[in-house]
Amino acid sequence: MNTELKIKVGILGATGSVGQKFISLLENHPWFEITEITASEKSAGKKYKETVNWVLSNPIPKSISEKIIKKCKPNLDCKIVFSGLDSSVAGEIEKDFAQNGYIVISNSRNHRMDKDVPLLIPEVNPDHLNIINNQKYNGGVIVTNPNCSTIGLTMALKPLMDNFGIESLNVVTMQAISGGGISLMQSDSYIDNVIPFISGEEDKMETEPLKILGNFNSDKIENADFPISAQCNRVNVFDGHTECVQVKLKKKVSSEKIIKAWQNFKAEPQFLDLPSAPVNPIHYFVDENLPQPKLQKDIDKGMAVSIGRLREDKLFDYKFVVLSHNTIRGAAGGSILCAELMYAQSLIK
Ligand code: NAP
Repeated sequence: MNTELKIKVGILGATGSVGQKFISLLENHPWFEITEITASEKSAGKKYKETVNWVLSNPIPKSISEKIIKKCKPNLDCKIVFSGLDSSVAGEIEKDFAQNGYIVISNSRNHRMDKDVPLLIPEVNPDHLNIINNQKYNGGVIVTNPNCSTIGLTMALKPLMDNFGIESLNVVTMQAISGGGISLMQSDSYIDNVIPFISGEEDKMETEPLKILGNFNSDKIENADFPISAQCNRVNVFDGHTECVQVKLKKKVSSEKIIKAWQNFKAEPQFLDLPSAPVNPIHYFVDENLPQPKLQKDIDKGMAVSIGRLREDKLFDYKFVVLSHNTIRGAAGGSILCAELMYAQSLIK
């Protein structure tokens, strides 16, 4: 696509952990071009390179480094806004943009459980996009990306749900520092430490997968119905969330069949060959010391989920380990894939 034909996008919260990942991933994107960047009042009016605490190993793209950060007001020259806003302000700002005709794709928790807002993982519930027809945002739309740990977990659950049914689930997470935003990265509280609390996270993990795995029935989403118990911990890893999962299935099934279901899993983004889609959404590793954040988080552009250590469990049926990149698959990359799916379905013109 010619540069002039690319769809103009803005980044809300461009200075944050997720905002920086958007800027990095959208450099040279075939369909989208960043025309606007915004952040809080304290950053607005300043050049990006002079304000941002850039934490990524690749340099700030040239097209962005001199750009002036704007306020989060719906007067931007773009069609889509990707939001990496702090959840204390995201709710109202995102609604304001939608009401002014923008397509908002959000990473914040605020609108995720609204009944007319899709909580979208393109490989898992692409049909839930239909719910946007119920939105009354004056031409605009809000689509949300799930919580970063929810995405990895739910991608692993989707083939199990479809093939064998899920009775109940327990998950314990070990979540990376970059998931706590720039303020956590600037502190030293995580060094030589495990923090056994992440505000709001356990509730998100116990509810979001049920909406995502729910059925879209004519004009509403009917949530899946099984109990989830979650415990969430912050660990001293820069990127990549690891989750230890125990699951009880509705059907008795061999571990070989479960692994095959994961390995054969492909969906809409792969069939449509979307630019950010992983070739294989799920990679299963047989080595008993895998997956590891250091080795597997970047697999398939950081967009795939790695699974390993599937074995029988004395309390549930099976247990296994899931790993996914929290700021790519779990945030910016996942949101870009949502926009690509919407573009491919002519929901963005
Ligand atoms: P972050 O590093 O703290 O960044 C927050 C961003 O919000 C910054 O750009 C900040 O701008 C901006 N902001 C703060 N207050 C504002 C205000 N009053 N008006 C306008 N902008 C304001 O947080 P993050 O980790 O990137 O997370 C962003 C969102 O994504 C959160 O809702 C988070 O829960 C969610 N999320 C994060 C991850 C992850 O892995 N990090 C994954 C999934 C979802 P200034 O720099 O000017 O303050």
